[in-house]
Amino acid sequence: MSGLHPFRAHHRRKLLASPMPTPWLDIIARDVPLVEALRGEPRARVLDTMRVLIDEKYWEGGGGFEVSDRVRVVIAAQVAFQLQGLSLDLLAGARSFIIYEGAYVQSQKRIGPGGVVHTGSQNLGEAWVNGPVVFSWADALDAAMHPGTGLNVVFHEIAHVLDAATGMLDGTPGLPTVEARGHWASIMARTFEQVAEHHRTGRGDVIRPYALTNVAEFFAVTSELFFDAPQILRNAHPQVHACFEAWVAGPSE
Ligand SMILES: [Zn+2]
Repeated sequence: MSGLHPFRAHHRRKLLASPMPTPWLDIIARDVPLVEALRGEPRARVLDTMRVLIDEKYWEGGGGFEVSDRVRVVIAAQVAFQLQGLSLDLLAGARSFIIYEGAYVQSQKRIGPGGVVHTGSQNLGEAWVNGPVVFSWADALDAAMHPGTGLNVVFHEIAHVLDAATGMLDGTPGLPTVEARGHWASIMARTFEQVAEHHRTGRGDVIRPYALTNVAEFFAVTSELFFDAPQILRNAHPQVHACFEAWVAGPSE
């Protein structure tokens, strides 16, 4: 939360000094086991980040969907879980979260440079550079309630925002050095080829074929695995897992 405007910093302190609404903790206990399982300082930090996200983002329903506290808590808790070790400032470009009841039919053509292209007319979610992040509530809730599968629409869309925060949707998040970026790019490029080969030959891979759409989707799909089912990623692609671990551990690693 460094580099924050003094007014916003003050507002955040005031927000976090007030007690958490009890129903929100009930929602987490029931619907978001990944966050419910956290203890001590990590849990406190994730809950604080969740409250800031609920407070500072514009939460809008699409197609007449009513955005309830449960919707905000379930989505914000997952985003906060993903941001452990990462700065909330990375989401500065995504001011609005738009939530549809289920998979929605895309209503507009691709907008702006760098928009992430999701093929097909039915979307589970999407993210734009400096634009809103769009989620399907049914899929966001299902992901929250069933961790460990490596499928999570919230982690996927937020991964695109984290990727775009560097100014380029190139599948490489913000890394501290040229060497780290080069290492990341070479591991991912090599793994991309391996995964393509595994799917081509019918062997299959824990990184699903959609990742092969482009480097941005490769990052988003691999992020789903890293944040939702890290042991699956570690077993199948230890070097990819190590890159992600170094990234979320920050510059000192
Ligand atoms: Zn995507």
